[in-house]
Amino acid sequence: MRIAVLKGVKNFVIEEASIPSLEVDEVLMRVKACGICTSELYLWNGKIKDAAFPLYLGHEPSGVVEDAGRKVNGLNIGDHVTFLSETGCFAEYAKAKKGNIVKIADNIPFEEALGEPVACAVNGIRRSNIQFGDNVVVIGCGFMGLLLIQLASLRGPSRILAVDINDERLKLAADLGADLTVNPREIDAIKYVKSVTNRRGADVVIEATGEQAPLSMATEMVRIRGRLVIFGYHVGEPRLINMQMWNWKGLDVINAHEREPEVYMEGMQIGMMLLSKGKIKLKNLITHKYPLEEINNAFNDVNMKIGGLIKAVVAP
Ligand SMILES: [Zn+2]
Repeated sequence: MRIAVLKGVKNFVIEEASIPSLEVDEVLMRVKACGICTSELYLWNGKIKDAAFPLYLGHEPSGVVEDAGRKVNGLNIGDHVTFLSETGCFAEYAKAKKGNIVKIADNIPFEEALGEPVACAVNGIRRSNIQFGDNVVVIGCGFMGLLLIQLASLRGPSRILAVDINDERLKLAADLGADLTVNPREIDAIKYVKSVTNRRGADVVIEATGEQAPLSMATEMVRIRGRLVIFGYHVGEPRLINMQMWNWKGLDVINAHEREPEVYMEGMQIGMMLLSKGKIKLKNLITHKYPLEEINNAFNDVNMKIGGLIKAVVAP
């Protein structure tokens, strides 16, 4: 089979490899689509230093069951699935433990059935504990932010306010459930949040950028005893936080990155259920699709944030 191997910074090479062999409790999938994640971008572009090349990336797959070990039941050859993989999924085939696989309806396009990032977003919202009537701010309207907005709106908030510096993305945010949108390059977003919450600040602020400035902004926007949810993936230099303000406001600060495998899979089940019921929509978020051979171009486009790109997938 063909597999993309990251040999160094900005250097994927397509290699020939043998199809993964199965343990008794493992399942082999033909990979149909695999999302490109920001965490992988930082390995490709060198923002994460000292990466141990070669790397086998691709952890947001969907595909078709091709074969299964003898202790696997409840899955059939030909089933459409999404999964947490044991192997890199920028490849024609990948394998997973039987417990790390979620079946998807046949009518869901593979490029939308990205169980892993959807699970992250579902679990982030579960951790955020949004209550009926809450004022919610989501900072960052990339793929994750736009998913978080849709999931947050299922929790019955009184208002969702989306923040981004890109007006195109803000328009998408409004289409997907944000009641208000604000571009901090145009107006003072902190003042705006205060003005629409009777000067209290928001009940829940979700930071979905992984950058310093929005993290600082989030601290200012959240109300006394509110919840500051850090969903963004923060790499590189340690962040500066206003501990005095965290302390004085008595904030609940939630690092919403899920690490517990069982919770991860629950999130994936819930996410795929919501997708099949049409409660969340990914159609307009999956904007770019590349064959395996084009993987360096795909990462380059994600790195350059080319116009209109929300989420790119590789289709091996
Ligand atoms: Zn990811």
